[in-house]
Amino acid sequence: MNTKEILSQKGLRPTIQRIKVYEYLLTHRTHPDVENIYNDLKKEIPTISRTTIYNTLKELVKNGLVLEIPTEYKLCFDGYMQNHSHFICEVCGKIFDLNLDLKFKENKISDHIIKSFCVMFKGICINCQRKEKK
Ligand SMILES: [Zn+2]
Ligand SMILES: [Zn+2]
Repeated sequence: MNTKEILSQKGLRPTIQRIKVYEYLLTHRTHPDVENIYNDLKKEIPTISRTTIYNTLKELVKNGLVLEIPTEYKLCFDGYMQNHSHFICEVCGKIFDLNLDLKFKENKISDHIIKSFCVMFKGICINCQRKEKK
């Protein structure tokens, strides 16, 4: 299924903005925020606004196509929808995907039923560790 078909299936009219924002997230596994997406997309669509991007992202989140990652620094978005965890660097603020193999007994923790998860780890990323040593 292409992006257009996925949007239509969710009942979203496949407008150029929706397609571009969604495709941006699918091709950039960098957990961008509105500003990052805006800076890249305005080169292609000069009329696009931050508000449009923000509203589009919210729609995509609501329809389960995109993940919202609120951090203390900024609000980031992720088009990678498999269960995965994140590591956030407290120095540079970058978010990295962690594919940890978290397994639960009968998909339960303390008798709560687990449907999905996203664990957030915090620390100093490998790049910033290298910089600190210098
Ligand atoms: Zn870092
Ligand atoms: Zn991620």
